[in-house]
Amino acid sequence: MNHLIDINDLSAIEIEALIDSGCEFKKNKSWPKLSSSNCSMLFYENSTRTRVSFELAAKYLKVTLVNIDVATSSVNKGESVLDTMCNLQAMGFDYFIVRHQQEKLPQFLIENMKGDFHLINAGSGKEAHPSQALLDAMTIYQYKKVFSGLKIAILGDIKHSRVANSLIQILTILGVKSLYLISPASWQRTDIANTIVTDDIEYGLSEADVIVCLRIQKERLEKSDVIDFDEYQQNYSLTIDKLQLAQKDAIVMHPGPINRGLEISSQVADCSQSVILEQVNNGVFMRMAILNQLSKS
Ligand code: ASP
Repeated sequence: MNHLIDINDLSAIEIEALIDSGCEFKKNKSWPKLSSSNCSMLFYENSTRTRVSFELAAKYLKVTLVNIDVATSSVNKGESVLDTMCNLQAMGFDYFIVRHQQEKLPQFLIENMKGDFHLINAGSGKEAHPSQALLDAMTIYQYKKVFSGLKIAILGDIKHSRVANSLIQILTILGVKSLYLISPASWQRTDIANTIVTDDIEYGLSEADVIVCLRIQKERLEKSDVIDFDEYQQNYSLTIDKLQLAQKDAIVMHPGPINRGLEISSQVADCSQSVILEQVNNGVFMRMAILNQLSKS
């Protein structure tokens, strides 16, 4: 693995190896040292969890990391992302972690940059968020061990969510057969094979082993996608009542940031079945696993 751009670039074996390595780093605190590596992070969109967990992961592996403050960088003087990265590469950076609203930008960057380097896509538009999908899979593995027999329900704004897109890809590769995508009709995606698309939340959540709740991507909604949020909250917010439809030992996940009371009630977010903060914790170890794996190629 030279770059991490999209989950579909990975095989089941590569994904399982990353999950194993994330679990190992979490359990045993004897971590490799990648002290000769220099990593720069360029976030053109907001982030808390992804950015900070990559920072911490790099620190634990002794990678020198510089977080480029895009808001005060030469981007504001008209410099392209490619030129910015080539300049950083000239200074000696060999890892780049990039979040940008433009889809396919990571692919463009790896095709147009020269020399040896590793690029990690930390979120590209509504298309991909591979490190999130890997930490989500690690979390499901932690609680459920075997993927194939699980019923997994993804609830919310499927259409605009890069988290959903990458998660559906990883779960499909890992052999999940019962994948339910629950959302109001206008936020559905019907172009994804082997998923059950429904606007019926009771049907979708019934007997689920894992529920992944999504944030409404307000910043990505086009005019025709805007729905009545009060109505959404009434019908689709994950409440304790709706959670009872799932298996008793179902886990509740959310990539964050959560909007309490809108897509998930506070009672559910804070209940014993919620593993939302465990996802955040796993994010640090999975990102260590990613950096470490890239260093080997
Ligand atoms: N933090 C995730 C992302 O960057 C989820 C979200 O913002 O809703 O896509």
